[in-house]
Amino acid sequence: MIIILKPDIDPDGSEVSQLLAYLKQFPDVKTKLSGIKGTSRVVSEIYLIGPTHNVPKDVLQSMPGVERVVRVSSKYRQIGKHGGQLDELGFEYNGIVFNQNSFHIFMGPCAVDTLENVETMMKHMAEYGIATARMGAYKPRTSPYDFQGHGKNCLPWVFELAGKYGIKVIAMEVLKEEHIEEIHNALQEAGNPTGVMLQIGTRNAQNFELLKAVGSQDIYPVLYKRGMGLTLEESLNACEYIASEGNRNIVFCLRGVKTRLGDPHRNLVDFAHVPVVKRLTRLPVCIDPTHSVGTKDLAPDGIYEIFHAASQGVVAGANMILIEFHPRPEEALCDGPQALTLQDMDHFIQDVSISRRAYKERRDLASRMSLTKMQS
Ligand code: PEP
Ligand code: MN
Repeated sequence: MIIILKPDIDPDGSEVSQLLAYLKQFPDVKTKLSGIKGTSRVVSEIYLIGPTHNVPKDVLQSMPGVERVVRVSSKYRQIGKHGGQLDELGFEYNGIVFNQNSFHIFMGPCAVDTLENVETMMKHMAEYGIATARMGAYKPRTSPYDFQGHGKNCLPWVFELAGKYGIKVIAMEVLKEEHIEEIHNALQEAGNPTGVMLQIGTRNAQNFELLKAVGSQDIYPVLYKRGMGLTLEESLNACEYIASEGNRNIVFCLRGVKTRLGDPHRNLVDFAHVPVVKRLTRLPVCIDPTHSVGTKDLAPDGIYEIFHAASQGVVAGANMILIEFHPRPEEALCDGPQALTLQDMDHFIQDVSISRRAYKERRDLASRMSLTKMQS
């Protein structure tokens, strides 16, 4: 059960304490207060966990400060929309807003390699006003003999460069709990010149201890990537692990699923699930066309297949794109063949904005159509 408080309610004020006092008569029901910063208001929700069937909804509904009370099913308790009863969960991090309407492109190399390459990349991004990057410092690789990333050693200079070029958020994969600590320490030592979104890679999509670790801190938002061999339901449940630990600043990322049916692409593109995730959950949705397609093949219309896949996701309402760019893909230590180059950047940004415009037009058309249908 969730009690949604009115927007102007002080979480420390008399209304909340009155509610908590009332709920004390149900000793097995635990309460958890969530303050979520939305784009335009601070929403506070009280979660009731445990046997809530005896808790009278109508009594709570009539108490001061309560906007509405929602009984939620056991599925996706915190991240779920529960049949449209709950609003989306938006959040702001380091000046950037993430919700089911926002739109950001996170670009950069698969793995951080040289300072020169990282600087060249960021400099170009700054020229296009892009303040959101992807940079892998810790890389999970299929072969133990492949480059595993520079780890914490590269963090000081990556963060310093990000500050220099106005990068506000870097999506950075973490493989174990200590990596969160290393990132936190490096950011603090550098004076927080940028922010980090902790990325859970597809290989760790059901590493429940890691999910709990990113969920039990609330400094950094989380970019959760769908498990390559998991159903959507399994991946959304994994996401629920993060939220259930307290951190609901999560973006859900579709990145393709592994099956030979996707050949010759690296994975089968699953971007038809963008609207599904937006319907079932309150989370912003990201697409990763790079790892879905996995090759830099050009279609006969002169458009890269990666662009085509990105367009499918954006036209369907994706809120974020995670995409690999490298100034010199032939030198990249990881995933060079699928990286776009700086020469592709202008084309990509323009192509994406066409798709985003198309999505907005489609959304406006749908809203006009539903008005007409209601009136007729
Ligand atoms: C990545 O984004 O660098 C990555 C490794 O992606 P995935 O976990 O989806 O394979
Ligand atoms: Mn990669």
